[in-house]
Amino acid sequence: MSFLWTTADLLAAMQGRPLGNLPEGINGISIDSRSLGKGEAFFAIKGDRVDGHDYAGVAIANGAALLVVSEGKLPALGRLIAPMVVVDDVLEAMIRLGCAARDRSAAKIIAVTGSVGKTTTKEMLRHVLLPQGRVHASVASFNNHWGVPLTLARMPEATDFGIFEIGMNHADEIRPLVKMVRPHVAIITTVAAAHLGNFKDLAEIAAAKAEIMEGLVSGGHVILNRDNDQYAFLERQANDLGVAHIHSFGANPRSDFRLVEFAGGSESSVLWAGIEGRTLEIPIGAPGRHIAENALAVLGAASLVGADLDKAAASLFTLVPEKGRGERHRLAVDGGSFALIDESYNANPASMRAAIALLGDAEPGEGGRRIAILGDMLEMGEFSAKVHAALSVLLKDAGIQYVWLAGPEMAHLRDVLPETVHVEYRENVNDLKAFAIDAIATGDVVMIKSSKGTGCGRIVAALLEKY
Ligand code: ATP
Ligand code: MG
Repeated sequence: MSFLWTTADLLAAMQGRPLGNLPEGINGISIDSRSLGKGEAFFAIKGDRVDGHDYAGVAIANGAALLVVSEGKLPALGRLIAPMVVVDDVLEAMIRLGCAARDRSAAKIIAVTGSVGKTTTKEMLRHVLLPQGRVHASVASFNNHWGVPLTLARMPEATDFGIFEIGMNHADEIRPLVKMVRPHVAIITTVAAAHLGNFKDLAEIAAAKAEIMEGLVSGGHVILNRDNDQYAFLERQANDLGVAHIHSFGANPRSDFRLVEFAGGSESSVLWAGIEGRTLEIPIGAPGRHIAENALAVLGAASLVGADLDKAAASLFTLVPEKGRGERHRLAVDGGSFALIDESYNANPASMRAAIALLGDAEPGEGGRRIAILGDMLEMGEFSAKVHAALSVLLKDAGIQYVWLAGPEMAHLRDVLPETVHVEYRENVNDLKAFAIDAIATGDVVMIKSSKGTGCGRIVAALLEKY
């Protein structure tokens, strides 16, 4: 078999010192001793909570081919006899390896950032490109100062399409990451209120997202959301930075990848997309207008990296929602059934809006209700009361009459909902869980969403366990 890295290349790229009897090569890279595969290199990264060096022995027991450890930790590793590469700093060495992976690669590289929809877009890109070439993409949301270099270092030489999620909580985080990735195409899905506590306003968030353009290869492309309030700012940034090709997507008629029409349904939807002078009718396996919007950026990017557009569009028919992001369950209750839409992965105003619209598109069964179970959106800073109360309008527009709420911030929404809406409010998620378990009935369609930290995922888990 061919290695991900031969040990010779690995040593050269990382400027490491070999210790012990090293294998000829490694077939993977892991920073987690629990999920490590046999024959992989274990990089002993020091995180906020744990230090990988404490798990070096476990990694070897689990089949690691070699350990990458830092010089300073050698004494602490004591008597552990194992093949090792000793480096100054493990994360820095992983970054050097990641850059070497990028240098040796002939792949077309796409980088995705944005306030919401990075993983959704990245996985959609994986889905449409997989039938057209060898794809390497970030795992989960591995999008930060260790996730990006890890994903790069894991990229096989024989890759046609590399897809990287890049995230941030603060200004100046994306720039160094995208300079490692050096994408041919960069996508900014959307700019919206998330981590508001760390930023003065949306313009500051947009400026931080715009850093992704600074790492583009020369002649590179950026794809921007034309429906977003920050579009004009981002377009200006792109021009100022001398980005060679600026593209846009959205319902705005001037978009290059345009939402001509959208028909939402319970289980799937249809997008009419205007691309390259044609209008394509595209059935999409995962419902939601926001999914269709992401799809426009995906198809644009796929085409720009040389994939076949019609084939890519056709692939969307078999798309399924990502875990906790619109995932569907049909569960038996009272001799009938109800539908559960699991949106519990996370929440901020933009993704709440998308999920409420998604529930609005879903058809309840006979006698059933559309029920939104919503928990607090966190990290909203001084805007918190306002953004929670603002959900009232979205619920009204989506025609949702049953609203079950949990968390102190959701009290702001409770207080402004009209009397015609059936509201249940509990300060505590567990209390709402107890209520919901008994109150759900046949025909209902239930959408559950909150910030991760609020924990409405517990309600999803309880329903899946009981029904
Ligand atoms: P993270 O920063 O946690 O990695 P992310 O940017 O990767 O988040 P996703 O995990 O793709 O985002 O999606 C987060 C939430 O936003 C999900 O509920 C998803 O359904 C929703 N979402 C995805 N795309 C959009 C979009 N274009 N507009 C609004 N909401 C979206
Ligand atoms: Mg993500």
